Amino acid sequence: MPRPVILTVDDDPGVSRAVARDLRREYGEYHRIVRADSGEAALEALRDLALRGEQVAVMLADQRMPRMTGVEFLERAMDIFPRARRVLLTAYADTEAAITAINVVDLDHYLLKPWDPPEEKLYPVVDQLLEAWRRAPDRPTTETRIVGHRWSARSYELRDLLARNQVPFRFHLAEDPEGHRLLEAAGLDGARLPVVVTGEGRALVDPTDAEVAQEAGLATHAVEQLYDLAVVGGGPGGLGAAVYGGSEGLRTVLVESVATGGQAGTSSRIENYLGFPDGVSGAQLTDRARRQAVKFGVEILTTRTVTGLASRGGVRVLTFDDGSEIAAHAVVLATGVSYRTLEVPGLTELAGLGVYYGAATTEAPSCTGETVYVVGGANSAGQAAMNFSRYAERVVMLVRGPSLQASMSQYLIEQIEAVESIEVRTCTEVVGAAGDEHLEKLTLRDRNTGDEQVVDAQWLFVFIGAEPRTDWLDGVVARDDRGFVLSGPDLPPAPDSRGPSGWEPDRDPFHLETSLPGVFAVGDVRGGSVKRVASAVGEGAMAVSLVHRWLENR
Ligand SMILES: Cc1cc2nc3c(=O)[nH]c(=O)nc-3n(C[C@H](O)[C@H](O)[C@H](O)COP(=O)(O)OP(=O)(O)OC[C@H]3O[C@@H](n4cnc5c(N)ncnc54)[C@H](O)[C@@H]3O)c2cc1C
Repeated sequence: MPRPVILTVDDDPGVSRAVARDLRREYGEYHRIVRADSGEAALEALRDLALRGEQVAVMLADQRMPRMTGVEFLERAMDIFPRARRVLLTAYADTEAAITAINVVDLDHYLLKPWDPPEEKLYPVVDQLLEAWRRAPDRPTTETRIVGHRWSARSYELRDLLARNQVPFRFHLAEDPEGHRLLEAAGLDGARLPVVVTGEGRALVDPTDAEVAQEAGLATHAVEQLYDLAVVGGGPGGLGAAVYGGSEGLRTVLVESVATGGQAGTSSRIENYLGFPDGVSGAQLTDRARRQAVKFGVEILTTRTVTGLASRGGVRVLTFDDGSEIAAHAVVLATGVSYRTLEVPGLTELAGLGVYYGAATTEAPSCTGETVYVVGGANSAGQAAMNFSRYAERVVMLVRGPSLQASMSQYLIEQIEAVESIEVRTCTEVVGAAGDEHLEKLTLRDRNTGDEQVVDAQWLFVFIGAEPRTDWLDGVVARDDRGFVLSGPDLPPAPDSRGPSGWEPDRDPFHLETSLPGVFAVGDVRGGSVKRVASAVGEGAMAVSLVHRWLENR
């Protein structure tokens, strides 16, 4: 953490140097002395420090500066660092101004120049002010900060992106003092939000995911043109393939469109993964896997979506959403599934504004003391209800079926029954939603009686199953009628061939191999997969051994 700053501003270069020298001699070990020669330059320096999340402990300003007086400077500086202690440096003739300033800028002290010796006249004052500041300092931060509106879908997306990529950040409402100060420091009026302030103090106005990822130190561009193995999707399946690929010496790249972890990364507690008898949060599990992959030299690209796959000159070529390409000798498709959306009047416009698909774990603390509605009766909905019950006053599960028994694991049903604040409303569906800037009302229908009820609601989390997003693979690899990728023995055989239509090798397709030789499918995206973390990881590992066979026998 950088040392807290003592800032001094004086337009006379000789005096300015002397003040800084005296301060540095006494406080240089624990404080950074920043010197400016005008009020404007000092304000600029303060804005920079604020954007970088640094602390300013004491500001000393000369009163008699030509364009901006010391009092004027301190008045404006207070907006940026309200807790920094303020000292005015004056000549005898200015004592009147200094005394007035005690009220105007809540001045802590004024010092008459010159002050020789500093041991008697300067240090005791600064010591006292530093002591007072230490009791109530600004909080330093090197974290990324997001300034936005409470109910803004884009602010939510950015928070989710950073949280799921394990990038520490703070969120400030634009109308809160800290948000206001950050905007002021960045010279912005807040007309365009969200604003992301990086750890290094750069302010990005309404940035793209890729810009934020890059600033947060996540790789977004491939280093090489050609890899042994390219893995598409960074959920458990993709991470499994990447870890084994990297550890077995394959030059491996993993491409992930949002954040490594996939669905598993959003699970608050995975209870059935081998080796974790007390359960493990999905974020923890997948963060370890990501670090393991990096340790084995895997290149991980985040916020990059693969939109095309083709076979060209003996290699497989992946195209990204910006049109750029990479090539690989083998590809593992691990793109999993995405939440199905709830098609109900009024709901589409409120996505991200109180209506969320999936666990949206970043939002859980915001629900403190409020009522949360969870739609769905499967394990993912149950886990979310348990997680939200730690924060919300009341969690209402809306389940279409007559009970949870058919769709949820018994251990979760028992956990839910034991939590008083969770209410399970069976035979109930959402048929309408309304709200101006965010969700305000839900219309619920009793499926037995047809009765409808309008309830006040601010939070709705939807878990109604998922589907693969594989349109970009149309005509490239064989898929079933729901879009799942077919592989190995599930591929429909073509007459006079050992594989599906267009199959060229003189062998049967390997177990996880798709209709395009050298391209494998693992995890939830694979037709017939069992939709579990363990099986996705296992298939990822297994795919790598098949990649070796493919590479050896091409
Ligand atoms: C809330 C919740 C709780 C769960 N709890 C459990 C549990 O307790 N136990 C259990 O065994 N299972 C659980 N599951 C299921 C489990 O998480 C999944 O089976 C598992 O994550 C599947 O892994 P995957 O790698 O196949 O796909 P996913 O986890 O879906 O990951 C796919 C990844 O690919 C990325 N991607 C998609 N398309 C592209 C593209 N074109 N380009 C680049 N990247 C792309 C996605 O962004 C995503 O990150 C849970 C799921 C959810 C949602």
